[in-house]
Amino acid sequence: MTTLDDAALRRLSQEFEEAEPQEIIAWAAETFCPALAVTSSFQTQSLPLLHMIAAIRPRLRVFFIDTGMHFWETLLFREHLEAELGLNVVDLYPDDRWRPFLRNFGRRLPLEDPNLCCYLRKVQPLQKAMSELQAWISGIRRDQTAVRARAQILERHANGLIKVNPLLNWTRDDIEAYRKRYNLPAHPLLRKGYPSVGCAPCTRPVAPGTEDERAGRWVGQEKRECGLHTEMFDKTLTLSLETLATPEADEENC
Ligand code: SF4
Repeated sequence: MTTLDDAALRRLSQEFEEAEPQEIIAWAAETFCPALAVTSSFQTQSLPLLHMIAAIRPRLRVFFIDTGMHFWETLLFREHLEAELGLNVVDLYPDDRWRPFLRNFGRRLPLEDPNLCCYLRKVQPLQKAMSELQAWISGIRRDQTAVRARAQILERHANGLIKVNPLLNWTRDDIEAYRKRYNLPAHPLLRKGYPSVGCAPCTRPVAPGTEDERAGRWVGQEKRECGLHTEMFDKTLTLSLETLATPEADEENC
């Protein structure tokens, strides 16, 4: 178990402001493996981080959160990149206890309560997967959203889990330059106007040249983040499962 007190974490995070992403990833691998994983949504902008992981620590687990609501193009792109880069991808799914609830209400949920939807489909599966780890690597950048602009390269969650953000100081142009340098592919929906791709019900194409690459996410709603990179990740749903879930028919009780 690696221990880094808050002062050491802040000092190191400050030093990493000047470091290349590969140095930060290599430090995280040396420090935390095997209690380390990376998360990826397998978008065009995910390519540099995945490419670096493949070169530095190819067996590192790459968590992909399969919400059941992805575009089919995303699922094919995930398969393609796993094979091409030799990644160790682990798919995460909503907890089985939510299956009846999601079967009955899952299509309405993105519109009627997207925060609950993101919690059940994204946040809770990742919380569970992270419970055994010491640290995780994420690909967020400061130029993406106001929340991400305030992030640090090294952060500590309430439960002690350390989050490592090696690409925090990169811009969209840096991503494109890296992708071109290594001839890396783009998500199939990029050329159809999707610079950022989330779940199908919550993602729209954006006008060419739109400054905000996430302008097509949760259009018409206040929501800007799914919760993986906000304080929601440190919370536990307080609603009772029994209150929300619709029990499956049990033959013995019929
Ligand atoms: S992005 Fe939309 S569909 Fe996906 S989990 Fe969040 S609310 Fe649900």
